[in-house]
Amino acid sequence: MYRESERPRCPFCEKPFGRPPEVNPKLEGDFYTWPCSCGAVGAYDATGHNLGDALMEAIAFAFDDDLEKALAAEPEKDYEVRYIDCYHLRDHRVSEGSRTYKTGLAAFVFVKLKTTEPIH
Ligand SMILES: [Zn+2]
Repeated sequence: MYRESERPRCPFCEKPFGRPPEVNPKLEGDFYTWPCSCGAVGAYDATGHNLGDALMEAIAFAFDDDLEKALAAEPEKDYEVRYIDCYHLRDHRVSEGSRTYKTGLAAFVFVKLKTTEPIH
């Protein structure tokens, strides 16, 4: 067992998420994206170094594949971005305190549109 803090969670709502399906990292632009129940969109980068592309996928997904809107959107203003580094697929675990680019592990990027922010 791993520590509770190492459990992969949505960085926006802390909801744990399941193991992503196998993605062939050799296929460029092939990211697994899924919506979280809080309105955030997660994208899985199996290689850990295509996060820029994974981010674009997540943004496009968040805007319902409306690329025009997605490209016009501005970070911080229209959406928020959060990353999860150092994901171990085999153990479905996130190691703390290290960075993906040094380890070759997988990573996630999450996007949440500001407009879908729940009203408190
Ligand atoms: Zn969430």
